Formats: sequence, C-alpha cells, structure tokens
Amino acid sequence: MPPDRASEPRGAPDEGAPPVAVLLPLPLAGAYDYAVPAGLTVGPGDYVVVPLGGARHVGVVWGAAEGAVEARRLRPIERRFDAPPMPEEHRRFVERVAAYTVSLPGAVLRLALGATAALDPAPPTLLHRRSALPVPAGLRLTPARRQVLAVLEGGPARPLAEIAREAGVGAAVVRGLADAGLVEAVPVPGDRPPPVPDWSRPGPVLSAEQAAAAADLAARVRERRPGTVLLDGVTGSGKTEVYFEAIAACLKAGRQALVLVPEIALTGQWLGRFERRFGVPPVEWHSEVSSGDRRRAWRAIATGTARVVVGARSALFLPYPDLGLIVVDEEHDGAFKQEDGVVYHGRDMAVLRGHLAGFPVVLASATPSLETVVNVEAGRYGMLHLPDRHGGASLPEIRMIDLRSDRPERQRWMAPTLVRAVGETLAAGEQALLFLNRRGYAPLTLCRACGHRLECPSCTAWLVEHRLAGRLQCHHCGFTTPLPRQCPACGETDTLAACGPGVERLAEEVAARFPAARVELVASDTLTGPRAVEALVGRVARHEVDILIGTQVVAKGHHFPMLTLVGVIDADLGLHGGDLRAGERTFQLLSQVAGRAGRAERPGVVYLQTLDPGHPVMQALAKGDRDGFLAAEAEGRRQARMPPFARLAALILSSPSVPDVDRAATMLARTAPAEPDLQVLGPAPAPLAVLRGRHRRRFLVNAPRQAPLQAILRDWLGRVRLPGSVRCQVDVDPYGFL
Ligand code: ADP
Ligand code: ZN
Repeated sequence: MPPDRASEPRGAPDEGAPPVAVLLPLPLAGAYDYAVPAGLTVGPGDYVVVPLGGARHVGVVWGAAEGAVEARRLRPIERRFDAPPMPEEHRRFVERVAAYTVSLPGAVLRLALGATAALDPAPPTLLHRRSALPVPAGLRLTPARRQVLAVLEGGPARPLAEIAREAGVGAAVVRGLADAGLVEAVPVPGDRPPPVPDWSRPGPVLSAEQAAAAADLAARVRERRPGTVLLDGVTGSGKTEVYFEAIAACLKAGRQALVLVPEIALTGQWLGRFERRFGVPPVEWHSEVSSGDRRRAWRAIATGTARVVVGARSALFLPYPDLGLIVVDEEHDGAFKQEDGVVYHGRDMAVLRGHLAGFPVVLASATPSLETVVNVEAGRYGMLHLPDRHGGASLPEIRMIDLRSDRPERQRWMAPTLVRAVGETLAAGEQALLFLNRRGYAPLTLCRACGHRLECPSCTAWLVEHRLAGRLQCHHCGFTTPLPRQCPACGETDTLAACGPGVERLAEEVAARFPAARVELVASDTLTGPRAVEALVGRVARHEVDILIGTQVVAKGHHFPMLTLVGVIDADLGLHGGDLRAGERTFQLLSQVAGRAGRAERPGVVYLQTLDPGHPVMQALAKGDRDGFLAAEAEGRRQARMPPFARLAALILSSPSVPDVDRAATMLARTAPAEPDLQVLGPAPAPLAVLRGRHRRRFLVNAPRQAPLQAILRDWLGRVRLPGSVRCQVDVDPYGFL
C-alpha cells in the first residue's frame, strides 16, 4: 500500500512555511537547508528540485532545516515532484548504509535515485470511446463514419489508432466524429500497473522437508518476524520452490517481496518458474532493463503496485513502501559486493534492511559463506536445511586428475583421462562442460627473443589476448589494442608467444580433438545479460551443443538434463593470490560447477584437474565434505584473527601522482589509530599498484569483532586533509584485496 501522506507532518502552504533540509545525491557532508516558497507544500521524503551553485539537482526532503544558515538567506525549493515520498524506513536505510560503509549519505542517496525520470508521473494517454450524444439529425453519416461507430459500439475506450485500424479508415475520420461530439477522449494514467501475482495458485507438492521449511518461512513472513534465516540445501534440493512459498505468504499478507540474485543467474528459467507458480512475471530490475521499463518499474515499486521485484543488488535501494520479505539467492556469490563508489555487500545490506524494518530475510545457498555459517552457529541467524536433491537425483561423483602424473601434451590442457571421458560422453549421446575461469585466448603474451611481457599502459597487469577479436585487452581497465606483430621492446617480428590457456585456446584444443562435436564457448564478454544466458540455456537444453566451454558464467544454476560430464581444467586457479577467502571461494565455485552435472536422472561425473590433489579444498570436494571444510576454514580464520571472527577494513588511496599518493599515505600512517587491539597494516603499494593510471596504496585495518570500526575510521579520516588529487576509498569488510 502507498504510505499515508497525511501521516507525515507537512509545511503549511501559506507564506513562511519553515525551511527544510534537502539531501542531494552528491558527495556533500550532509543535507542542505532550503526555503519553502509560498504555495508549495513539502513533507519529509518528498522529491524536489533545488538550486545549488549554478545547477539544479533532484533531492529528497530529509527533515526540518538544520538552521546553520539564516532562514531569509536560503534559496527556495523550485518544485516538488508528484511522486510518493521516500518512505521514512527507506531514508533511515540510506543513512545506515552510509554509516556502515563510511560513505557520505548523498552518495548512498544516489543509489536510491536510479531512475529520476520516474519522478514525474507518466503523461496520461488519451483513449477514445463513443460518447453519450445521440447522432444529430443533420450529421452526414458516410460509410467510413458508420464503420467507426460500429467498431466503437458498446466497447471500452481504446487508442485512436487502434480504432481507425479496426474500422479500416484513416485517423481523420475518427477525429471528425470527435469534433462532432460523437466520440469522446478519456485521459488515463500513462502506466498500467504491473500484473498482480496470484499467491493462491497451487505450487508443486512439496516433500516433507520442503514443506516444513516452507511452513517455517511462511510463518515468519505472516507474523512479520524479524531475523535472518539460511535456507541451506544442495543444488537441486528445491530451495527456489521453498522460498516461493515465503513469497506467496508475503503476497497474501499484502506486502511487497524482493528477490536479489546475482544478475547472471536471473534467467528466463527462473522467470518462467515464477510465472508458472504465480501466473504473471515479476517486476525486473537489473542492467538490461530498458529505460522505459526502469521508469515504469520504479514508479510501480514506489506506489506499491509492484508486488514482487527480482533484481540485482541495486534493487535494494528502491523505495518500497511496504516490504515484507527479502530473499537473497546464492547468498555466497561475490557479485553481491559492489566495488566502486559506495562499496557495499548486497547481502549484508539486505540483512540490515530487514533488521531496520523488522521483516525476515532469507539467504539461500548450496555453499553458504563462512560469514553466514558462523552467524548460524552463533545463533544470530536461523537455519533451514533441505537434505536431498528433489526426486532423489544423485549428486555427481567427483574424481581428481593429478596433473603431475596424468599430464596433458605440450601446449595442450586436457589430461588424457579427461580426453577419454569426453569421448565416451559424446559417444553415449550426452553433453560435457569444460570449465576454465579465464576469458580470452591466453593470459600472457611474451616475446621469445627478449622475454618482454605485454602489459597494460595504465595498469599493473598483463594484457590478455582475445584471439577471436584479434586484440589484446586489459581485464582491469578495458584498454584494448590490436595484437602487434613486432615486439614493442626489441622490435623482433613474429616472436610474440601466447602463454597459458584461456577459454578460447581451450576451444581450439577441443575443436582439434573432437572435430565432429558441436562446441559453444561462453564467457562474460560473449554472454551479457539474462536474455543471452537464457538463449544459451535453451540451445544446451535442446541439445544443439555437445561440448560447452565456459568461464564462471556457466557455473550458475541452470538445469541441463543431458549434461553428465564436467571437466575443470585448472581447479587450482583461484587458490593463489593471497586472498583470505581463496579457499572458500574455490570450494564454492567448483561445487557450483560440479552441480551442473547430472541434475536429472542421469548421474554425473566431475573431473578436477589439479597439481595439488592433497589440498584441503580438493579433498573436501572429492569427499563431498562441505561441513568439514567449513569447520577447518573457520578454525584457520579464528586463529589468524580474520573475518568473520574479526573485522577488516581497507583504505585505498589513489592518485595519478606518485608523490601525492605517497604523501597522503604518510599522513594517514602518522595519524593511524593506536588502539590496543587494533592492527593497521600498510601503507603498501596495492598488488594492482597502478589502475587506470592511478597509483594505489593500501591500508588494512584489523579489529576485534566488537570494535566500533566505522567510528574509528571516520575519526581517522576526519583528522587528515588529503592532497586534492588523492582519492580515498573505504572498503568495510573487503572481499577483494587487489
Ligand atoms: P535449488 O533452488 O535448490 O537449486 P530448485 O528449487 O531449482 O532447487 O529445484 C530443482 C528442480 O526440482 C527444479 O526443476 C524444481 O522445479 C524441481 N522441484 C523441486 N521441488 C519440487 C517439488 N516439490 N515438486 C516438483 N518439482 C520440484
Ligand atoms: Zn589496464
């Protein structure tokens, strides 16, 4: 339901309405005061246009004026939009996200103003119908006019063009009748509300465990019980069906529901299932939604007519007036972390949102994050467990290929055992997936004459060859250049050699080994957005593909009934690089990839090619011992005083100028907080020491769980004035360490 506007205090329309504070979506320290001109009524949450300097900005009335500037010197608000005000709950959310992430509230507000075009109501459209006026005696009724009147007789108001088309006449004929008063125009609000999902439609018959979990979630939603629950179950155990029941309960209670997914997982398969369950599609919010649909979606969400929204992490910042449930699907997924601008974790902010508003949040995963598991163990989160794959489909068997003894040939990447297995799979008329989490042809290009490595001119990174595109590319800044014939260092011709495999190079090997197989290559640069993913899923499901080669975009929850073999080309790939979560992430990713095999009645086999079969991650995967792995991982983190048993924050200073960034780093080092339990590491050049031409220095703060980390950071940053060229990014709970 839209909020009751009358319930919020509003300025009087007469002269002298008190000034108000307006928060702008700009990096400013706080809200600015504005006068309310005579004749304008504004209240908290209203979207307004205000002048600032020489420009105009859309902002949100945040509350009473702070009074720092004398009232008569304030500039006036220019206008108020005719849109539902941003709910109080949402304004508090913006503030809390800013506080948690140590960012400016205006920067967070910018996330919430993702569709300013939606602030004005859509212009009404004119529909036409027969008026009540009888046909005047003197009017000449041509056959064309008669035709139009016949079409209109007793029918609803319709667009003029449609009437003319149906009557087989020109639009001028209809207008002529309108001039004569026989046809009338009725304005209708521009947007039709999105269709309402029908919660009362029956879902599938749930297994006993599914039914118990669904009943528990539904009760939480119905009773509006705050708290976070982990819905834990292997891929295919029916988590989606279970949380659909929570959504049904939310709809029945008349509240809005939000489902957050890693964007790439939002496929037509998911949308199709939603539609089968609820009769209509949900409202979508992600990067592929067109600007017109975005505007409509925003408006429908703000007015409360959008009942279920499914979206990427940014959907969290939409102004729901009456949210009653958030589901975070694949909660462990790294895609929920936003790394630029306001650095936040979508899952954690969803938990915060639920906490502030007092409704349940469901986190679903087959491989939950250690953070979430520890929260369950500590009793902070609830847990519901789905033990089996639905219908008894078996989990794939995981086998290890020791690359030290089962060696691929030179310049080849598939071990003999894997080659044999793929051959057998194809012979059986089944499909195989080869997984390599590396885009392009080769991660490194090296001169055989002088040893020079081709690097990005503006980053500390090698250029990756993309042979299909005929270019070298930087995966950090997007720089591309044609592949040179001469080494830029020594000038020799035809000495540049590709080192190591990317998926394109693997595809070359596959084509050579299995010339008759239909091969499809997928990577995030060839497959963007839910629609493209859906098309691919369709081709694989219709068995138009024998061998699928892909990066992690193929790892996300699609169902391929005939896919019975998964080969992981380099299972060790994610384990290097000193990331605190390297093991956890590798385990999650490889479990997810493995889950692609044998989801239907056919059992699947997964081969992991590794140089280190004894590694705890490989052992845990082979034994299917997720809980043992998590326990060992937790113990390691506890002893190292690392998250989730301690807190981390990173400060990343960057500047095009080395002296400036070093000066800033020295200043921060000198004023670093010196609390007994707190450890400040750095400054150190970031592993990615130069990014987009900016030199980067990192600090890492390690604090006990209970430490007031944000206050410490604010205090620290508040004490130094950094050189103008230096940007300081704060990353609370960092997931990336580059
Ligand atoms: P998860 O989300 O845990 O991966 P899904 O909810 O996608 O699992 O379920 C896996 C498959 O099993 C889907 O095709 C789903 O439609 C089917 N399924 C799950 N539960 C049931 C059920 N109770 N009745 C019929 N089909 C089910
Ligand atoms: Zn670059």
